[in-house]
Amino acid sequence: MGYLIDPKETIEILNKYRFVFQKRFGQNFLIDVHVLEKILKAADIGKDDFVVEIGPGIGTMTQFLCERAREVVAVEIDKNLIPILTEDTLKAYENLTVLNEDILKLDLKKLIEEKNGGNRIKVVANLPYYITTPIIMQLFEEHIPIENITVMVQAEVAERMEAGPGTKDYGALSLAVQYYAEPYIAAYVPQNCFMPRPNVSSAVIRLKLHDEKPVKVSDEKLMFSLIRASFNHRRKTLVNGLTADLGKTYTKEAILNALKKCGITETVRGEELTLEQFAQLSEAL
Ligand code: SAM
Repeated sequence: MGYLIDPKETIEILNKYRFVFQKRFGQNFLIDVHVLEKILKAADIGKDDFVVEIGPGIGTMTQFLCERAREVVAVEIDKNLIPILTEDTLKAYENLTVLNEDILKLDLKKLIEEKNGGNRIKVVANLPYYITTPIIMQLFEEHIPIENITVMVQAEVAERMEAGPGTKDYGALSLAVQYYAEPYIAAYVPQNCFMPRPNVSSAVIRLKLHDEKPVKVSDEKLMFSLIRASFNHRRKTLVNGLTADLGKTYTKEAILNALKKCGITETVRGEELTLEQFAQLSEAL
């Protein structure tokens, strides 16, 4: 059996099962062992860990996870991959459960409650890029007990998640991610590390969830609507951006007053504000 660390082994398995790649499931399988090692290191997987892997593919990463973690649950949407995983590549592991499910429909909280006594888990994922950000946000917003999430994303998305105020990549995604977690780009992954090659370059980012939120706000929804309004109108000053989107709820005067209260100049642009300042502004409003 052995590891699928040589691309030849991946080809062999795919041929044996006459596997047909499904574009709609964003199937680009990792074939580079160095990248696998970097993911494992970033996720900091050890013998006490309960890991959920989303989108195991043919199980390349899963084999390593099973070797190092206490327990692994792999959630794969494509039914054609299930026999490959259960009868072949992952057959030997007793600490593994393979679920043929769509992660967007799975009740992860219930699963963690039943299988891990509600204790915090680690999440590892290499998913179609168009669903990665919604999934991450869903995991955050539903307050699923998670220690860290280590995911492969488009390189630019990783940079946006990690960006700070005043940089070109800074935006609503940076603030949303940083409110819940501390981002760290663990590796850049070129196209030739996948089979088939994707069109974009990728990066592995680890999101370590905060034990305590970095800012305190009484109305999270309001803070995020301020953030969205500011970045919806990047060229406008903050006051004009906020008035354009939230003018029905707050007069321009109220917004100006709140800014003054926070010591923020009215000509500032949203992209210069820190998370802390958005939090203050939402409290002032
Ligand atoms: N992790 C494997 C690897 O690195 O080689 C496969 C990565 S591939 C980019 C994405 C995998 O996620 C595919 O196996 C695909 O079928 C699966 N997938 C796509 N959408 C999914 C969903 N909504 N829920 C669970 N798995 C999904």
